[in-house]
Amino acid sequence: SVLSEIAPPIQVSTQETSLSRPLDALTFDNRFTAELPADPDTSNRRRQVMGACYSRVTPVQTRQPSLVACAREVAQLLDLTEEACASEQFLRVFSGNEVLTAMDPHATCYGGHQFGHWAGQLGDGRAINLGEIVNGRGERWALQLKGAGPTQYSRSADGLAVLRSSVREFLCSEAMHHLGVPTTRALSLVLTGDQVLRDMFYDGNPRQEPGAIVCRVSPSFTRFGSFEIFAARQDWDVQRQLLDYAIRTDFPRLIESGDPDIDTYFQWFDEVCRRTADLIVHWMRVGFVHGVMNTDNLSVLGLTIDYGPYGWLEDYDPGWTPNTTDAEGRRYRFGQQAQVAHWNLAQLARALAPVVEQVEPLQESLLQYSARYNDGYRTMMSNKLGLLPSGGSDEANDGELIKDLQEVLQLRETDMTLFFRALSEVPMDGVASPAEVADSVLLAPFEVAYYQTDPLTADHRDATLSWMRRYAERVCRDVRPDDERRRQMNTVNPIYVLRNYLAQLAIDKSEEGDHSMVEELLDVLRNPYDEQPGKEAFAQKRPEWARHRAGCSMLSCSS
Ligand code: AMP
Ligand code: MG
Repeated sequence: SVLSEIAPPIQVSTQETSLSRPLDALTFDNRFTAELPADPDTSNRRRQVMGACYSRVTPVQTRQPSLVACAREVAQLLDLTEEACASEQFLRVFSGNEVLTAMDPHATCYGGHQFGHWAGQLGDGRAINLGEIVNGRGERWALQLKGAGPTQYSRSADGLAVLRSSVREFLCSEAMHHLGVPTTRALSLVLTGDQVLRDMFYDGNPRQEPGAIVCRVSPSFTRFGSFEIFAARQDWDVQRQLLDYAIRTDFPRLIESGDPDIDTYFQWFDEVCRRTADLIVHWMRVGFVHGVMNTDNLSVLGLTIDYGPYGWLEDYDPGWTPNTTDAEGRRYRFGQQAQVAHWNLAQLARALAPVVEQVEPLQESLLQYSARYNDGYRTMMSNKLGLLPSGGSDEANDGELIKDLQEVLQLRETDMTLFFRALSEVPMDGVASPAEVADSVLLAPFEVAYYQTDPLTADHRDATLSWMRRYAERVCRDVRPDDERRRQMNTVNPIYVLRNYLAQLAIDKSEEGDHSMVEELLDVLRNPYDEQPGKEAFAQKRPEWARHRAGCSMLSCSS
């Protein structure tokens, strides 16, 4: 039937399931490898792989795996019981030491533009996909081990990952999810018991670091670069197969019946543009800087993917990038992310153009991306400021207010997260005119967020007060009770984010064998919008010692 062509029946493992091997009870349906062309060469030799979407590969054996952390929410997504997560088999499977018979481990082929230049074939150099689980609700989740050894795509690197970058990936994936930002998820973090040599700052000072593996979980890991590689090779046959596959599997809403056609491809690209615009708005809302927005690190699902030298904005500085590898050009700085995403989408459009033969609809979607991003940004900032939607001339005023705030926030180092949180505390109930409100009350949200302690210069004070009075006037016009405004603002302005130095403190402890802070951070970040008594230490400004410490503000791609 037509239906079975679109959605092949789920293969249920016929193996006996017993309580002692609960992982075996999972339902695998490895559609990616079943439907897309495989690399016929089964050797794990580094090379260019032509005419295929993936190569089969087996994870390396690790010496002595141990569990650092497991995210119970992700285990639940997979229908894994708590006992399953605590089992020896869990450790074996998610360290790569045991491959379940229902799995089909493979590395995918993709290319990408890195820092603006075409880089050719990249691929899963240190990620091995284990297969796809279909859970009890019919959701498809692909499992991927990051750092499980070399693949055909490892080029000159080792295919491994170290604890510090794995802690960062694990915690940030989950923190982003709980913040409401689309992201790949992280099930588990294990130490391999092996040592890995890394030159953290590429400065000739390599050191042995503990090896680790994160199991990432996502509906799919398909990237912009997954399509670029086949365009670069003019392999339109495989390009179309992958496109059809991605649409059928991850965008089934786009096809009512039968096969995707050229129009479906346009709709798909439009959807990728929309999701990407929404994603970047979220990043701007929470102060997240991805750090390496190469086209191989952008998901067609609009998920945050590949947590490398990312960072969280401390003082509000649109020019900031955490990535030392990008320190010079700062291509991937905070304030540039929307433009870079647009550039990346244009590369994806170029990769599709020969298949669709008509570029106007693609160009239209790119235009719509900008409009959607700008609208989304405006609405998001209004929400952060606690402004009710306004029509007419107020809308232009709101735009000015938002624009001018960015200037004011840059007059001196101001902690973005603390500022927006404190802004919701400004008392306005019963205030007829902001002229009545004391300067000290208006300046308070800034004062708590400043990094310097010396008094403001007269100019800065005037500029800041003048913005606050305009803001207060605007808030007065909404005639909304303080507690209602505060409650709304606190749903979009987190109090807890994965501050760079907090992640580093957790890493420092973990490297010494104490993983409690990873667990504690994960727990605090589960409810990033709620004040948590006793957890005030996680909602503080970055301490001075962390200003220039490696890992706290400076990161590299070495991971
Ligand atoms: P990234 O910019 O970190 O997303 O990585 C770009 C490319 O380099 C991808 O193809 C990765 O798989 C690959 N890569 C990064 N680190 C390693 C590693 N340690 N071993 C093998 N491949 C790697
Ligand atoms: Mg990557």
